[in-house]
Amino acid sequence: MRRQIVIGNWKMNGDSRSNRELLDGLTNAWTGVHQSEVAVCVPYPYIAMAADALDNSNIGLGAQDVSQNDNGAYTGDVSVSMLTDFGCRYVLVGHSERREYHRESSELVARKFKKAYENGLIPVLCVGETLEEREADKTFDVVGGQLHKVVNLCGLDGLAKGIVAYEPVWAIGTGKSATPQMAQDVHSYIREVLGPEGDQIRILYGGSVKPDTAEDLFKQKDIDGALVGGASLKAEDFVAICRAAE
Ligand code: PEP
Repeated sequence: MRRQIVIGNWKMNGDSRSNRELLDGLTNAWTGVHQSEVAVCVPYPYIAMAADALDNSNIGLGAQDVSQNDNGAYTGDVSVSMLTDFGCRYVLVGHSERREYHRESSELVARKFKKAYENGLIPVLCVGETLEEREADKTFDVVGGQLHKVVNLCGLDGLAKGIVAYEPVWAIGTGKSATPQMAQDVHSYIREVLGPEGDQIRILYGGSVKPDTAEDLFKQKDIDGALVGGASLKAEDFVAICRAAE
């Protein structure tokens, strides 16, 4: 059985005061034992604060990106060991905003993925097509190509050490979520690509997930949770999505 997981991606939002309030809201609401796992990926400067606030809670901590290198002269980068040093358990790799605004290639994303799982983090590999690619009927090719870069470097057993998040680029931050069936179709394709290891790998859906859309998405056989951007910035909405995964 795959355990459902809901991960919040705060992106580049918040300040000390608002992030503290958000963390308090989450820890106050998400108490006790739960069937599903919950985590938040916070901006680097707030990782220490979040680690402190989430200590003794059922909410895991993650970051939004990581270096493919161990340490050294890489100005502005943050290493896996720095993240684990501060209690991170998860890290997003290959988010479409990194692929687009920082020109991250699938080869680079694969190296980050490998570095993360080999050194104690659970990488969350983000894949997904643009609107143009979907309209040109290239969704499976694009998503398959992004996955294969990781499989080529890490093997299927390496990919199984992480989580996959299917995030159609046209659905991120736009309020236009994929329908449950559209998402299920791609998730089932991803599971097929993952071969024998596919049964144990969690595949999350991301793209404008809201409290009122989460339940129907989570009912789909191959959707094992969500990666949530905008709605993770409001404790009440994020917790409602987490409850839908129970
Ligand atoms: C994301 O950033 O991964 C995301 C899915 O954002 P949103 O939920 O705002 O579409």
